[in-house]
Amino acid sequence: MPRSKPSQTMITSVSAEPLNIPLYEPFTISTGRVTALRNVLIRVTLADGTVGLGEAAPFFPSGGETQETALAAIHGMIPLVQGQDAAHWRALAMHLTDSFELQETARTGMEMAVLDALTRSWEIPMYQFFGGAETRIETDISIPIEAPKHMAELAQRYAGSGAGVLKLKVGSQVDDDIDRVLAVAEAAPDCDLILDGNQGFTPTEALDLIEGLADEDVHPILFEQPVHRHDLEGLRFVTERAGVAVAADESVHTAADALRVAKMGAANVVNIKIMKYGIVEALNIATVCRAANIGLMVGAMIESRLGIAASAHFVAGFGGFRYVDLDTPMLLAEDPFAGGFEQDGMVYDLEQVRAGHGVTLK
Ligand SMILES: [Mg+2]
Repeated sequence: MPRSKPSQTMITSVSAEPLNIPLYEPFTISTGRVTALRNVLIRVTLADGTVGLGEAAPFFPSGGETQETALAAIHGMIPLVQGQDAAHWRALAMHLTDSFELQETARTGMEMAVLDALTRSWEIPMYQFFGGAETRIETDISIPIEAPKHMAELAQRYAGSGAGVLKLKVGSQVDDDIDRVLAVAEAAPDCDLILDGNQGFTPTEALDLIEGLADEDVHPILFEQPVHRHDLEGLRFVTERAGVAVAADESVHTAADALRVAKMGAANVVNIKIMKYGIVEALNIATVCRAANIGLMVGAMIESRLGIAASAHFVAGFGGFRYVDLDTPMLLAEDPFAGGFEQDGMVYDLEQVRAGHGVTLK
């Protein structure tokens, strides 16, 4: 284990500022429409001078946070964080959860910056800190809800640039969704498809969609959160009948939720997002899932290279994630950051990272 004197990894200062990046094109899901990333950049400085970077990615429709509330929450955390030793990161994260439970993305950004500073100070890459299971991961790429023709064009373009898995947002009208999915399947016949309902269906509508696609010989590899997050019975109803793997996303907010999903047999897979509950709780959820033989998926909010790199290190370090949905940097028209991973097609390679998550400001 790397060692350092506690005083060297003492947190001496924390700062936060807006992080605004335009998207190439507006992105629509069933809960909202986004034209720009409006996140928060967090810097944590240690006594030895090491600086760690973190990103908070508030998204009002899912967590009720905005850029403004996230900035305010991070400023409110400063008295709890300054003077603490980054080496005690689990205790620090739990302390933040006690006071800022609902400010999830703000807490995640702080945890990310603290762990980046710590692992940079210790001179180990973050993926090794999390276990060092793998050094490469391959992401899917998402296609927004648009007219079928436009979705087919995007699918063809992504398949041409090496995408093996396309993720589609569904959850509006079953017939329209079938048209869109068929258009994509026809345009990119060699790609696997993940459907994300974002809670948009009733259980029977969800099955109608899967059966309608099966009639055309289209079989998605995964169906994410078809029904409302609190309807675990409905989720199990779909899981038992769909004939394709079903993932819980919005239904899982804590390790206890993951345990409930596992006990009920409500889903085959859990989509884990560090931005939804923090890195420590994400580790707890991943551990519950592994113990319960629930498949691991990773997703993200609309995050820049910074947040996505942290998730990539988490996933590669823990290992065994079957579904990877970390494509949002490819939606951004600008990249203020460098490093974190080397990208080849849809593969993120972490092997060159020497310390922390490796992301720096350009
Ligand atoms: Mg989802």
